[in-house]
Amino acid sequence: MAAARNDGWMVKIGLEIHCQLTGLKSKLFCQCSSDYRGMEPNANTCPVCAGLPGTLPLLNEKAVELAGMISLAFGCKIPDRIMFYRKNYFYPDLPKDFQITQYNAYGVSSIGAEGKLEYIPGAGSGADTGGKTARIRRVQLEEDPGRLVYETGSMESSPFALIDYNRAGMPLVEIVTEPDFIDPRDVRIFLNKITSIVEHLGACDTSLEGSVRCDANVSVRGGNRVEIKNVSSFKEVEKALTYEIARQKAKSDREIQVRSETRHWDDARKVTKESRTKEEEQDYRYFPEPDIPSIALGQEFLSAIQSLTPELPDDRKARFVSSYGLSPHVAQVLIDNKQLADFFESCAKINRSPKEIANLIVTDLMGLVGDDKKDSGAIFAGLKIRPAHIAELAGLVDRGVINRNTAKQILGQIVKTGEMPSEVANKTGASMIQDADSLSKAVQEVFRSEQAAVQDAKKNPNASNFLLGKVMQLTKGRASPKAALELINKKLKEEQARPD
Ligand SMILES: [Zn+2]
Repeated sequence: MAAARNDGWMVKIGLEIHCQLTGLKSKLFCQCSSDYRGMEPNANTCPVCAGLPGTLPLLNEKAVELAGMISLAFGCKIPDRIMFYRKNYFYPDLPKDFQITQYNAYGVSSIGAEGKLEYIPGAGSGADTGGKTARIRRVQLEEDPGRLVYETGSMESSPFALIDYNRAGMPLVEIVTEPDFIDPRDVRIFLNKITSIVEHLGACDTSLEGSVRCDANVSVRGGNRVEIKNVSSFKEVEKALTYEIARQKAKSDREIQVRSETRHWDDARKVTKESRTKEEEQDYRYFPEPDIPSIALGQEFLSAIQSLTPELPDDRKARFVSSYGLSPHVAQVLIDNKQLADFFESCAKINRSPKEIANLIVTDLMGLVGDDKKDSGAIFAGLKIRPAHIAELAGLVDRGVINRNTAKQILGQIVKTGEMPSEVANKTGASMIQDADSLSKAVQEVFRSEQAAVQDAKKNPNASNFLLGKVMQLTKGRASPKAALELINKKLKEEQARPD
């Protein structure tokens, strides 16, 4: 695995992340709804977002506020004045033939510039050396284009393309990093962190399809940069980058120059494919948007967005560690997904045993959630679980009514049926065997049926685990393992004292 890392290959990865501001009610320059998903094609349009001649854009003030909050959260500088620019290119999804965006030129920057964000790399990629930092080049506010729909799902095989402008003009924040990543796994962790931040800010519901999109550029050994587009999820971004690094290394090994180009990730075949030669920045002929005046932000704006900013994931993690006594790792898993962190706090309000609750959520509940759901952020979709369930379940474990193994089984039932844990426990007789008599009977029975193992365990104390396994099997997992093992060891001592 280590060979896949940076080892002299000078891997450089930079990211462009697009986040739709779904937390807003309307589009960036008109009053059309931002909630366009599920609508009839082209039902959510007006003359402004359809780009009809003679219309004028009116900037959504809340979008500037949210973009400012995002910039602050990424440690960016916020300029005193911002401007919008026209980025000119022809593509059917762009009704005006230009996109209103921001650009760093003429001494005016986009709403955020020169920030940085720390993240904790995953196991095996330098976790022991602490956090890593990625520099943020800029954060900019712009409009989303429309959407091209292909009948067969692919441009190559469809006889025609359909255009849906419902999305055109959606407020979008683009976050551009410096090429500071060397490991595709770090990229995925970083993207999760970005997601959690915009969720905490209430800027973006990242579980909505296509609300967060990531393009990545990558080069090896100072060669040409390749941009990868069309990647559907963060897991696929990691795979696409891993593939692309290997492709570029192979070229470099054979002394073939890597071409500067845009490649698309083919989800089905798991390869990147050449798509078109990339436009250079000068091809876009940026110029200031004449229909939107430059906007002075100033200290008042800064104070306002500072006061609007809620608790962010890093601070929340620190609070989870200090007030609930969670380990930094468990706290990290919880805050990586705002829904999960909120769910944990709702449970902890009902039942004050935060460690057991966190344990049930992070280990057992997450074990029941598929990878695709974890990746999409919609963890609770289709699960009939409420905070009251986990709170009661944690209480049953705490009071010793059921053991953790049983709790896990009950949880598997709850997520499907929505029953309360105590109901499930009563119905299935899952409560832990409390009285010493029944436990002792079970141990005696195992000693009778497993004579060979008993003889073994008298010589080799490690073998008593086998007997414990048999007791757990006999009691259908309802014995307290600790109490059972004590009984087994006590009985073994008695047998040892007795001559064979
Ligand atoms: Zn509109």
